[in-house]
Amino acid sequence: MSVSFVEKLECPRTELLFEESKPLFNKDQAVSEASRCLFCSDAPCMQACPTHINVPLFIRQIMTENLNGSAKTILSANIMGLSCAHACPVEVLCEGACVMNKEGKEAIHIGRLQRYAVENAYAKGINFFSKGNSTGKKAAIIGSGPAGLSCAAELARLGHEVVVYESRRIPGGLDSTAVAPYKLFSDAALKEIAFIQRIGIEIKTGITIGKDFALSELEKQYDLIFVGIGLGQDSLLKIPGEDLTGCMGVVEWIENIKRNNSFNPGSIQSAAVIGGGNTAIDAVRELKKLKVPKVTLIYRRTEREMSGYKHEKDRAAQEGVEFLFQTTPLEILGSGGRVTGIKLVKTKGEDGRLSVVSGSEFNFLCDFVLKAAGQEKLSGLFSQIKNLKIENGLIKVHPETFQTDNPKYYAAGDCVSGGEEVVNSVADGKKAAKAMHQSLLKGK
Ligand code: SF4
Repeated sequence: MSVSFVEKLECPRTELLFEESKPLFNKDQAVSEASRCLFCSDAPCMQACPTHINVPLFIRQIMTENLNGSAKTILSANIMGLSCAHACPVEVLCEGACVMNKEGKEAIHIGRLQRYAVENAYAKGINFFSKGNSTGKKAAIIGSGPAGLSCAAELARLGHEVVVYESRRIPGGLDSTAVAPYKLFSDAALKEIAFIQRIGIEIKTGITIGKDFALSELEKQYDLIFVGIGLGQDSLLKIPGEDLTGCMGVVEWIENIKRNNSFNPGSIQSAAVIGGGNTAIDAVRELKKLKVPKVTLIYRRTEREMSGYKHEKDRAAQEGVEFLFQTTPLEILGSGGRVTGIKLVKTKGEDGRLSVVSGSEFNFLCDFVLKAAGQEKLSGLFSQIKNLKIENGLIKVHPETFQTDNPKYYAAGDCVSGGEEVVNSVADGKKAAKAMHQSLLKGK
């Protein structure tokens, strides 16, 4: 069954309560900001971008009011230039590398300039790219997240027939359902997908490969297959009380607030987020922005060992988030089926050698708990693919071609990396497409 993904976003979404953290520049702001750029040769900003967008060129094009040219420069390198402009951690990528930092000045706002150029082109409905001359070859893409869509777009531009299979009702993977809404609204992600689809890609939603459509049939119909299915559900903490009302996984929660209106922040007095990665930090910042009075991040290791970005953690602290380090949950506490708190214990030790401090248990009062301890690995499909090598639940691929040990299959994105930025998935999906193209041409 092929289902159009362009469903109306009719329901009131909690996501719309958020203000954008980096709003769209107007023309004067964009030209003025572009004029600050030094247009460096061997620009470090360009090197720092995993998709190597020609940053000085697109900024110069904004400065000279060649906005279509600017958008084309961006999208030629990175077909998901809009969601990356919103969601990239620019502070540690392009803007972190900007030479302005060394001169003690504010880095050029590369992400906001990128958004300005791409949104302008989308508003005009410009299709910069079209399908290449047909090679007569067919590729199937399983999963419509950033890696899958980037791979699909590149293959279509190279002239291959591409069909993307997505098990959910809407495509986009985490881009449309799990990026923090103050960074990227889901309708912006869907607008970008519509642009990519117009290159000449078919996207079939609501189809789970291996369940609704046999893998053997897919293998018969397509010359090559790309797997970009991401990760699964939020990992369980495996402690008592996880099933209480008011305790849920962070990815599930973000999808709820992005896609519907099932979360009432006004009913919460104290929220706790358990985890130390970027998703945990996004969640505490979201809860604060939704005006939850007390928000606490609980992490079992030291502050130094948090995997989340320091600049995001610092912003969370400035926004009033509280932190409990070297503290781990033993039980989610409840009354009448609802969360009333967490039984916690202090930990000691660093760099992997972690133990609990006996006698340090205490009860922490809260009425909402989010688990941000990572996502489960997806293994159901993997077991159906012959000779696929799996390590720690992730698909093993060649580091440059992204081909798996089964030569018909390529893979990239979170199901290979275990979790990376949108821009890394986009870059890897494109590299895989280039390698698939070479293989498809050889098979002609
Ligand atoms: Fe412009 Fe900064 Fe990039 Fe130089 S490093 S080209 S100043 S954005």
